[in-house]
Amino acid sequence: MDNDLLDVVIAGGGPGGLNAALVLGRSLKKVMLIDEAKPRNAVTLKSHGFLTRDGISPTVIREIAREQLKAYKNVTVMEDVIEDVERNNDLFITKTRNGQTVMSKKIIFATGMKDHLPSIPGLQSVYGKTVFHCPYCDGWERKNQPIALFGNGAALLPFVKLIFNWSKDLIVFTNGPASIQDEEKRQLAHHKINLVETPIAELQSNNGNLEKVILQSGESFHRKGGFISSTYERQGSMIPARLGVPLNDKGEYETHEHGETNLEGLFIIGDAKNTFTSLVGAASQGYEAAVKINSQFAAENWEAGLLQNK
Ligand SMILES: Cc1cc2nc3c(=O)[nH]c(=O)nc-3n(C[C@H](O)[C@H](O)[C@H](O)COP(=O)(O)OP(=O)(O)OC[C@H]3O[C@@H](n4cnc5c(N)ncnc54)[C@H](O)[C@@H]3O)c2cc1C
Repeated sequence: MDNDLLDVVIAGGGPGGLNAALVLGRSLKKVMLIDEAKPRNAVTLKSHGFLTRDGISPTVIREIAREQLKAYKNVTVMEDVIEDVERNNDLFITKTRNGQTVMSKKIIFATGMKDHLPSIPGLQSVYGKTVFHCPYCDGWERKNQPIALFGNGAALLPFVKLIFNWSKDLIVFTNGPASIQDEEKRQLAHHKINLVETPIAELQSNNGNLEKVILQSGESFHRKGGFISSTYERQGSMIPARLGVPLNDKGEYETHEHGETNLEGLFIIGDAKNTFTSLVGAASQGYEAAVKINSQFAAENWEAGLLQNK
């Protein structure tokens, strides 16, 4: 059975999981990465802000990473869904939808978040094409353009301030009565930002390009793209929660340094612990968790060697 024992199972093959697999592979660890391959960024055509990868499709980034992992025979990549993980003494037993059961000394969850967009007719067609959440990812392409900003509540004004950096030609759509302070309304008016509270009937677009925001009153506004302040993310996997890892009030997993959790041997990295880490952020956390895990194995093996020679 020891032959089948893996050092690390990695759940999720986004930038977090893939970079952890790469560094653990290069550290001679026996690793299995299991990925459902349904990332939240699959809706978008181009990713930005990741050095050497600016403007490349997120699918291509994953393909290159998987191709490069093939050089490490100690790393197996499987397309499957992890349905359950049990803790048995110090080991993790992972069960997949396709009926695989694997055992590992440690496990990394890099299972990301899933977006649940508000039910505005037409939003699904433009999200990830010309309407986005992250201005660092997609603000440059919309600089100085007439854009829509969808959102409401306490998070609205901080988001407007941010987006204002890229375009001052902003219309804010709250899709119903604005639940913001009078002072916040005053600040929007001061910056000549139109606040539209009438509910939205639909977003009209052509091939993913937002053209018009049409209100239930029949009034419409030409806009060339936009940003949405919240995509109502939820965890990609609730397995760590079932095992006892706490979630904070934003629905993110609570971790310690390097992605370690209250459950020894279970690490969480990427969007699962930071909602919107970015490609480079998730990849960096994968690197960091892998280094921590390998250094733990190295220390354990060293101690075991000392005991044997006594
Ligand atoms: C529309 C959009 C555009 C974006 N654009 C950019 C950009 O331009 N630049 C940038 O830096 N960032 C961008 N991001 C953010 C970036 O995509 C994420 O921050 C990053 O992908 C997070 O990486 P991750 O590894 O944590 O998770 P993900 O990349 O989300 O990967 C998680 C993986 O885990 C898998 N998974 C989940 N549950 C299971 C399970 N039970 N078993 C097996 N596999 C499972 C999922 O299917 C998925 O493949 C964008 C995000 C969105 C939504």
